[in-house]
Amino acid sequence: MKFVEREDWGAPASSPASYLGSARGVKIHYLGTEYASRVHSKCDDYVRSIRASHLANTVEDYVDIAYTALVCEHGVVFEGRGSHKRPGANGNADLNSRDYAVCALLGSKGLTTPPDAMLHGLRDAIEWLRRDGDAGTWVGGHRDGYATECPGDQLYAWVQKGAPRPGGSAPAPADDVYVVKPGDYLSVIARRLDVSWQDLAKVNGLRAPYTIYPGQELRIPGGAGGRDVPPFPGTGAFVIGKSHPAVVTLDEGLIRGGWTRHHDGNGYQKGPMFSEFTRRNVADFQRSRAELRGDPDGYPGPLTWQMLLS
Ligand SMILES: [Zn+2]
Ligand SMILES: [Zn+2]
Repeated sequence: MKFVEREDWGAPASSPASYLGSARGVKIHYLGTEYASRVHSKCDDYVRSIRASHLANTVEDYVDIAYTALVCEHGVVFEGRGSHKRPGANGNADLNSRDYAVCALLGSKGLTTPPDAMLHGLRDAIEWLRRDGDAGTWVGGHRDGYATECPGDQLYAWVQKGAPRPGGSAPAPADDVYVVKPGDYLSVIARRLDVSWQDLAKVNGLRAPYTIYPGQELRIPGGAGGRDVPPFPGTGAFVIGKSHPAVVTLDEGLIRGGWTRHHDGNGYQKGPMFSEFTRRNVADFQRSRAELRGDPDGYPGPLTWQMLLS
């Protein structure tokens, strides 16, 4: 799952919405307005604008963005109110206490057909809420039990099929692009992405003095396939609090795949120590794969190693 936490898109870390212990399941929503397809670096702007418009809504008196989560066309899940918070989007207090509310960034005009990546992202959000939010297995649309067109006919048809993962297609292409943040240098980005800065400059057509600017999208060289997986070092390499060179390789795989949401507050960095953050990030990866989901303990075995690094 590609997951953007609240503070990473510009919302306060924790939602002031009231606590929700558990839910029957998840209701899917759409925007119901005109929505134009965009590059992924513009998606967080849009999520921020939704939050601003909800906070400005004096009729509903929202304390926060109304949705539990939002999913863009690139399959990235933006944390809204988050798990264990009562959503504000399902129609009334009773409906809001019953189900989480996940909104697809999909319009009634413009972008109206959910791409496969978006369906993967919605499915990721549903599975996340079952895992971390005590959501039950029920999946429906806003129109279930409430008079609305939401989530549109196409998404609703998908929801009625049980919100299946689309077959055969890769989840999200968002990995292949890095969006420059304020204060980034090419060398720092290259280190973070584990590529050489020369390659990074070359595939992006950059020449001396290698000027980059915040918001610029950089293509990441050599992202796709063909990677040689080093031999599995044995389970003894992965002991909480202990260092082993194989942990650096493991961290590179986690960072490459975006499995980095657990960290000490300064972002997840690679290093030789197998920490509790490492373990939890590995567990996220394991839960995302059917073959590994049976035992997502966060300790890499040969199969986790192979799948994460290939
Ligand atoms: Zn809705
Ligand atoms: Zn996006």
